[in-house]
Formats: sequence, structure tokens, C-alpha cells
Amino acid sequence: MRVYVDDDACRGHGVCASMCPSVFVITDFGYAEARPTAIPAGLEESVVDTAESCPERAIHVTEENHVN
Ligand code: SF4
Repeated sequence: MRVYVDDDACRGHGVCASMCPSVFVITDFGYAEARPTAIPAGLEESVVDTAESCPERAIHVTEENHVN
């Protein structure tokens, strides 16, 4: 599974970084980023919960195992 944050939708309030700091960080530009985009083993549930909690629905989780 992979995760990414839609820059256009993110408003930077940091819910994601609080809920799952192992994956989500707030960059110097004030928006969230997923690092890494490949979700580490054991964190899938946390990432999905976080995506569902994002007030802007800016976090997208896919089943893809690779990025083009
Ligand atoms: S919770 Fe959503 S809108 Fe808020 S910083 Fe994280 S990705 Fe951006």
C-alpha cells in the first residue's frame, strides 16, 4: 500500500502528523507530506485511520506497490 497527500487539498493543520508521526510530517512550507510513500509494515491501519480523520480528505491510500 502507498499513501500520498494532495498538496492542493491539504490545509496543514497537522492532524495527520499528530496521529501517525512515523509517516506524516509537516514540511517547512506548512503542508503535510508522507515519508515514505510506501507504508511500512504494521502501520497500514494507522495510516488508513489517519486518512479517514483528515478534515480535508487530502490523504489518499492506494493498493499499488509501485509508483510510476
Ligand atoms: S490532516 Fe490532512 S489537511 Fe491536515 S495537515 Fe494532514 S493531510 Fe493536511
